[in-house]
Amino acid sequence: MEQVNVNSLSAVNETSTKDARAIHSRVLVLDSHIDFEPEDLTGERNYTQRVETQFNLPNMIDGGLDALFFVIYVGQTRESQNPDALKTAGYERAYRAAVEKFDAVHCFTGEIAQEQMELALSADDVRRIHAKGKKAALMGVENGYPLGEDLNCVKEFYQRGARYISLTHNGHNQLGDSHTGERDGWKWNGVAPLGKQVIAEMNRLGIMVDVSHASKEAMLQTAALSKAPVIASHSAARALCNVSRNLDDEQLHALKNTGGVIQMVAYHGFVKTTKPDSPERGAAITTARSEYNLPDPASLSQRARAQAALKMMPTDLRAEYEEKLAEIDKQLPGDPPATVKDFIDHIDYAVKLIGIDHVGISSDFDGGGGVSGWNDASETFNVTLELVRRGYTEAQIEKLWSGNLLRVMDEVQRIARE
Ligand SMILES: [Zn+2]
Repeated sequence: MEQVNVNSLSAVNETSTKDARAIHSRVLVLDSHIDFEPEDLTGERNYTQRVETQFNLPNMIDGGLDALFFVIYVGQTRESQNPDALKTAGYERAYRAAVEKFDAVHCFTGEIAQEQMELALSADDVRRIHAKGKKAALMGVENGYPLGEDLNCVKEFYQRGARYISLTHNGHNQLGDSHTGERDGWKWNGVAPLGKQVIAEMNRLGIMVDVSHASKEAMLQTAALSKAPVIASHSAARALCNVSRNLDDEQLHALKNTGGVIQMVAYHGFVKTTKPDSPERGAAITTARSEYNLPDPASLSQRARAQAALKMMPTDLRAEYEEKLAEIDKQLPGDPPATVKDFIDHIDYAVKLIGIDHVGISSDFDGGGGVSGWNDASETFNVTLELVRRGYTEAQIEKLWSGNLLRVMDEVQRIARE
């Protein structure tokens, strides 16, 4: 009996893997949030090679990923760190950092990787580029800080290729309150007066307003103010993981009412709240890592490099190291990290709450993102596989992977034209 059950179960799994492979190759697979450093796009060792990052072209090809938003991210300088953070000098530093990233994407898509990849400025561009078998790259701005206080800069960023902009990152700025106010207190109690003008300007130009990283109040005000659908480019469901970066049910309904979409993020800490390692377990892992010369993944910026270093290890050494880790897991078990299944639970939850038309997918790779099973772009298929196993149809999977976000992009640009 047991034997029969095992066989029929594996037969089911084989069918769903085959179905999922076919679906994954047919649908347009788009990741709405991937970070990068300018040298990853312009340097000698760049994303055309399998460099030590979660995203790069070889990983993108292996994972069947068709399109992505490169994120023009500029961190928020706080006034407590630098008194001119929200003055001309601070804005100029942020602006130069943003322009360097815009330029890097143009250099990569227009020169370095022009055979494989093309810059997309509209949803139709994405579809056209995909249809001819090339990868499509878009640009989103994470943090409106580099816009400074000059409304004309919104148009400049649009002309440089920005198709979404979030008002804030971590820490309040001239445009509004960040989610970090739950810990630090509020500056504006929502969107700042200048932020309201920036939202109107984004609506006028056809840039999607991104509410990820905004405070709840700023997010709800944005949803009410925007004349076009709004997006959350990389957030998850607060009901399943209670962190201020996620959207609660009230926010998800408000987002849906704009016609917008939440690009569910596979960021381990927003997918699952894991209990910290015991000191004994932490020490054992650190010792094992240093024995095999692996970087410490505790700091966010080292996480991707640590994963890549592991991938580059000679097979026998890696097997040895993994055996050691397995032994540690047995002796000193830790809370398992978020998996693809945990991630898809967030998608299931939002689909049930606000409907299949308002949910999408993002990784936040090279910005701290990744869950066990989808830890770099080469593993992107695992997301489709789990969706198929849960009974999502091809049409629904297409919506989740790109259909919804491209619909919103079309709508935002149509409203701008009117
Ligand atoms: Zn972010």
